[in-house]
Amino acid sequence: MTTTMGESRVSEAVTCARCGTTADELPLTWVSSVERGRTLYYCDRCARDNLRSIEARLDDVWW
Ligand SMILES: [Zn+2]
Repeated sequence: MTTTMGESRVSEAVTCARCGTTADELPLTWVSSVERGRTLYYCDRCARDNLRSIEARLDDVWW
C-alpha cells in the first residue's frame, strides 16, 4: 500500500456519509467535510442539504 503525501485527490472508493451512495473515485461535485478528526464525503445532492445544516450549526456557534 502506497501513501502519496501532498496529493489531495482521492483515488479510492468513497461513500456518501449521508445517503450511502458510493463512487469508485471522488467525483468533483462531492464535498469533503472533516468532522471530529474524520474526513467524511457527501454527494452533490447531500452536500446541498448538508451545507444548510452546517450553516445552521455555524449560526448556533456564532451567536
Ligand atoms: Zn448522498
